[in-house]
Amino acid sequence: MKLINFKWQQLILSLGCLLLIIACQSLYPNNPDAKSLKVATDPTFVPFEIQTASGNLEGFDIDLMNAIAKVAGFAVQFESLPFDGIISTLQAKRVDAAISGITITAERLKTIAFSRPYFKAGLAIAVREDNQNIKDFNSLKGKKIAVQIGSTGADFAKTIPNTKISTFNSGPEFFQDLLNGNVDAVISDAFATLYAIKNGKLKGIRVVADFLTEEYYGIAMPKNSPHLDAINKGIASLLSNGNYKQIYQKWFKVEPPQLPDS
Ligand code: GLN
Repeated sequence: MKLINFKWQQLILSLGCLLLIIACQSLYPNNPDAKSLKVATDPTFVPFEIQTASGNLEGFDIDLMNAIAKVAGFAVQFESLPFDGIISTLQAKRVDAAISGITITAERLKTIAFSRPYFKAGLAIAVREDNQNIKDFNSLKGKKIAVQIGSTGADFAKTIPNTKISTFNSGPEFFQDLLNGNVDAVISDAFATLYAIKNGKLKGIRVVADFLTEEYYGIAMPKNSPHLDAINKGIASLLSNGNYKQIYQKWFKVEPPQLPDS
């Protein structure tokens, strides 16, 4: 009888171990040395990163990062940071990566690394609905413009002659300044602005004509990051297995455009 008991115990123990191994493998499918990556994001950039009322993060970037982590075999721990602090935090290697609608630029590539492009974007001019005199880049000359500190929109505004530029930490703040009549226009990422207008979150504002620039977002990492390769392979498999398209359509309701490899 004692012998049978012992065998049962052994069997239950072995089954328990087996279940644990299966559970771990489904969490980290390809990588036995799976680890958790600290990923910075600024959750004021709707619909790419949003903080819900209950404090959870959601958005296109959040879904994409979680999907990359799943195929690449690591866990993600998001850390909220103001957009303007993300690049210096990466340089100091205080986080492993950042996803926050960050445009790949030559200037940024001098100090940090980027994944392959994961989103086709561009800057746009936003004005109050009743403003008829700002129609394009040329009509911005000499105007008062609001931008986000440290953004590509801020860099672009500096190239327009005789402007007075006001800088803000995030979208909600510069759009409020525009609605209050303190500035004539905002230069910021078109998709975020168009999304907010379409979803009734930005009343009284419209986007002017064409995009000013063509930009691509990349996942930013410290230079020589050991995770660059896994993240790039993760993006490639989401692009080929239809998962990228699914996430894109969930947030933007249209087919995603073609992306360059690098
Ligand atoms: N794409 C812009 C940039 O990289 C702004 C992104 C953002 O506000 N999160 O500068």
